[in-house]
Amino acid sequence: MVNCPTCKVRHNIHLGEKRRIIVLSTSTLHNTFLNPVCKSSFHFDLETVCGGRLQQLHKLWQHYYNKPGPPMDVVISAGLNDVARMLPDQFLSLAEKFRSDVMLNNTDNTFTMVGLMFPPKLTWFPYNASSPPQGHIDYREAFTTINEQLRILSVYPDNWVSFESEGCRSIKRRDPATGKKVSVTQHNLSATYWREYPHLDRALHLAEPKRAMLISRITRYLEFNMSPENITTLQRRAERRDKPPPQVININEMNNDSINNFFIQLEDPEYDYEFEF
Ligand SMILES: [Zn+2]
Repeated sequence: MVNCPTCKVRHNIHLGEKRRIIVLSTSTLHNTFLNPVCKSSFHFDLETVCGGRLQQLHKLWQHYYNKPGPPMDVVISAGLNDVARMLPDQFLSLAEKFRSDVMLNNTDNTFTMVGLMFPPKLTWFPYNASSPPQGHIDYREAFTTINEQLRILSVYPDNWVSFESEGCRSIKRRDPATGKKVSVTQHNLSATYWREYPHLDRALHLAEPKRAMLISRITRYLEFNMSPENITTLQRRAERRDKPPPQVININEMNNDSINNFFIQLEDPEYDYEFEF
């Protein structure tokens, strides 16, 4: 038995799954399941390497997962530590190699690469509320090229999961040439969105609890695309029937103290929760 951080219940190590779901990431998703709002209704493995690069995650997968067994769904969220160090084509050929190795393991496997987030450290929008930090290099073009190809490379390009709009917003601006209002993108430059704020030259991670939403987006992506019989759903849904109605938590209103208190409450089996994002 393990105290599973993903499902937040005790369960057997071997679940007898028909498929295995494996999410590999860098610091972007590191320890997201320590945040109490992150709870999945089905089990998956989340392995992260802080500062990790795509090739390292590929090696990790080869070492731990490239074995005979049930088919697996591999979801990779990585790239922020690679983009400034190589050309988009080089990054994409590493992603393609990773995908082809996953498919060689079992033709029923699936491979998804999550669309890259645009962090202020590596990208800057012309309509941002302030000027970029001194010496800033804008890799937006590389990010856009990579994301276009990662969508095509992924198993469900029409129902893809991408972090490209995380920490950003769309605003209306009047186009000086035509006089018409047009939508433009800018970063949300505040501590609510970026962990490293106000040090934007280092801003590479979303703030808590925004970061918690990333793993929730992956679980929703998996739930949407996977047929229910392929997901090992634990029996907690049935167990909940006799409990009081769920408490609604708005995670945008949570601060560090309320998150800690909530984490203590979560241990109490009498409580059940639903989350608003
Ligand atoms: Zn689990």
